[in-house]
Amino acid sequence: MSADVAAAHVLVLGGTTEARRLAEALAGDPSYRVTTSLAGRVTSPVLPPGETRIGGFGGPEGLAAWIGSHGVTHLVDATHPFAERMSFNAAGAAALTGVPLLALRRPGWTPGPGDDWTFVDGLEEAADRLPGLGSRAFLTTGRMGLHTFAHLTDTWFLVRSVDPPAPPVPPRLEVLLDRGPFTLDDERVLFARHRIDVLVTKDSGGSATAPKLTAAREAGIPVLVVRRPPVPEGVQEAGSVAAALNWLGASSQLRG
Ligand code: NAP
Repeated sequence: MSADVAAAHVLVLGGTTEARRLAEALAGDPSYRVTTSLAGRVTSPVLPPGETRIGGFGGPEGLAAWIGSHGVTHLVDATHPFAERMSFNAAGAAALTGVPLLALRRPGWTPGPGDDWTFVDGLEEAADRLPGLGSRAFLTTGRMGLHTFAHLTDTWFLVRSVDPPAPPVPPRLEVLLDRGPFTLDDERVLFARHRIDVLVTKDSGGSATAPKLTAAREAGIPVLVVRRPPVPEGVQEAGSVAAALNWLGASSQLRG
């Protein structure tokens, strides 16, 4: 709907499936005006309904200014759990403007029987531990941190990302350009075809990319799991789109 002084204006910081689902739900409700913001990293992003804007705001102050000039009433940080800077900026902008902020974070993954997971605190630690676990690695941590593994000349890497990675990259590398969701059958075939013996992943959570963990368990393959950065202190969290919708309903003056 068009800008309406009576409507709540929700700014969704996006880039995730949950952000898109939230925008879809709000776009169908006339009580809300929804704008989704994307960083602009992906060449052809899947755009949600409602309004969209693309590109950085210029830190917490830039985001606060945008919130003020566009009449934003609610801020939902639905960025990826590893988009640490943007979550920090959101907390800063909320403090500057007084606009209520919710962090929408799907729950992380937990190991089950038969899983052989090692948790690490970042990509550097993953790169340190990797040679001790395998020599043919399936790296699913995204193209941005690939330089962290560039010095591992003895490891062969299969890297899956939406857009091609830029150098520096590991010398023994095959790139698979693809976007989830991925099925268990696809992952089984991939592991077997490339003789993968170790998997590296962020603790992204969600179902779209979880089948790789099942495929690793079935094949008895160890997994290096990068722990999430913490949500900024004092920021309220929701674990699902339904919980985020509840929060919006509860805090909006416009819904009964
Ligand atoms: P980041 O390091 O936390 O953010 C870096 C800068 O990018 C921010 O300071 C901000 O610039 C801009 N930015 C990030 N998200 C934005 C958004 N939704 N709208 C407008 N500007 C945004 O972020 P990142 O890890 O590079 O992730 C970038 C985007 O990709 C995020 O939207 C995230 O949801 C998505 N994503 C990230 C991952 C991951 O593993 N990190 C995985 C899948 C999807 P300004 O300071 O100029 O505002």
